[in-house]
Amino acid sequence: MALKTLNMAIKTIEDLRVIHRRLQIPDEYIDICGLPFCPEPEELAAAGPDVFGRPALLEPQALRSWQQMRQAAAQDSVELHLVSAYRSIDYQAEVLARKVASGRSMEDVLTVNAAPGFSEHHSGRAIDIGTPGCPPLEEEFDQTQAFRWLSKHAKDFGFLLSYPKGSSGIINYEPWHWCFHA
Ligand SMILES: [Zn+2]
Repeated sequence: MALKTLNMAIKTIEDLRVIHRRLQIPDEYIDICGLPFCPEPEELAAAGPDVFGRPALLEPQALRSWQQMRQAAAQDSVELHLVSAYRSIDYQAEVLARKVASGRSMEDVLTVNAAPGFSEHHSGRAIDIGTPGCPPLEEEFDQTQAFRWLSKHAKDFGFLLSYPKGSSGIINYEPWHWCFHA
């Protein structure tokens, strides 16, 4: 397994405040968003290409568990695709900056995207999962056999649905987003 050790310093909450100010995210966001700070991991491993053919990275333990889960699903004739895995704090900042540059308000963008530092994808433990026949990152994923399989078995591999239906958090229902908890 190819391991990649991050050379950069792990970012702190203070680093986030600097990034947020640059993006003109209000200082209060960190205190009121209700999301935990998700630091980047010290190690990342190559998880193969995602469904778009981009090289994906995951925290090594999460990767092992994801591979085992995908194999177990395949044995039950359920195909699980990796749509998105690790995303860096800097990458999240770029995504937000791009959306604002295209004319949306930051307030509006923050209803869909977590601010840098607060996406579970920074941890390398969150995976957006897809399956053939269903467009990625759409709510109808919860109508698929893959979702039914995950609802029953994912916990056996340490993966939990982070944003279930009816949850009161800042992030809406995301049936495709599963996070590994060791
Ligand atoms: Zn996600």
